[in-house]
Amino acid sequence: MSIRACVMTAPNEPLELWTLDDPVVEEGGVMLETIASEVCGTDVHLHHGRLAGVPYPIIPGHVSVGRVTESRGVTVDALGEPLAVGDVVTFLDVHEVCNACYHCIVAHQPNRCPSRKVYGITYSVHDGPLGGWAERIYMKPGVRILKLTGGLDADDVIGGGCGLFTGFAAVDRAQVRLGDVVLVQGAGPVGLAAAAFAGIAGASQVLLIGAPDARLDLGVRLGVDATWNLDGTDARERAEAIRSLTGGRGPDVVIEAAGSPAAIREGLDLVRDGGRYVVAGHYTDAGEIPMNPHTDLNRKHIDLRGQWGTDFHHLARALRVFARHRDRLPFRDVIGARYSLEQAGQALDDVAALRVTKAIITPNG
Ligand SMILES: [Zn+2]
Ligand SMILES: [Zn+2]
Repeated sequence: MSIRACVMTAPNEPLELWTLDDPVVEEGGVMLETIASEVCGTDVHLHHGRLAGVPYPIIPGHVSVGRVTESRGVTVDALGEPLAVGDVVTFLDVHEVCNACYHCIVAHQPNRCPSRKVYGITYSVHDGPLGGWAERIYMKPGVRILKLTGGLDADDVIGGGCGLFTGFAAVDRAQVRLGDVVLVQGAGPVGLAAAAFAGIAGASQVLLIGAPDARLDLGVRLGVDATWNLDGTDARERAEAIRSLTGGRGPDVVIEAAGSPAAIREGLDLVRDGGRYVVAGHYTDAGEIPMNPHTDLNRKHIDLRGQWGTDFHHLARALRVFARHRDRLPFRDVIGARYSLEQAGQALDDVAALRVTKAIITPNG
């Protein structure tokens, strides 16, 4: 058999459809028939050549959902649930962390491990069908596969996509406490997920700044209490409104998922003294901001934290929370459009132009 795959041959080149040979499934390997893969902002950055060290040509698609078609000796998923042909699964795109380097065994930050590989990003097409924009995806031995349980289906998980897990990780990183007021900057998939999980984590108010209105409306459906459209308000107006909702203090927690340097400057101004500020939206270098160490950090006494990617525990825990609160988390409704492999270039353009919040690729129709 062969596998049709959408290949990004180089930055800024049109996507191509390639036909690949089926890989030999190694002991411990699993083949998936792709149900859906997502088009995330990272794929747009990949296409613009804004990530370092990417081994083009690649098959994009890092977060995906598929159905097991073949397995060699794998009878349980990463959490010990029975796994069989026909099961619908997702998997942690991050793979091959070494469990031997300083980052892995001393710092316990495997997302900084130099051996780390990521499906759809740091594997070349010559390594095999290791990206989701293809009819099938090969799970190399050791990839952490999770069966969808608790009533979750493919649309739930892919509707949240990578942003679901990154947003969850940002809320975790912010250590949102019961009763906190949480402001989220950015209403893309990461910001929407962060807002939703902040509410579930016990925030007393969840505030959202972003654009366009359709995304802010999705935020309200996911539990946001108040929104500001970035294009219809200026920073001073937003600051006044947010301070008036927070006793003049500002939010206890601010989570940035906007990707613009100006958002960081605004967030530093808005977070209350002694509050926590998590920066999760600067996956690529978007530029610099002025910062005053005295007024922004030292005197203000804030915790300023970055969140880079996600780890397996985020995936596992996010899916459990999602299953428990599925009625409050209509991420499936965030899916704006479905694209075939042939339409993947259009999907990238639509995501880049913010015409859809969540575009998904369905290689098998
Ligand atoms: Zn390591
Ligand atoms: Zn992503």
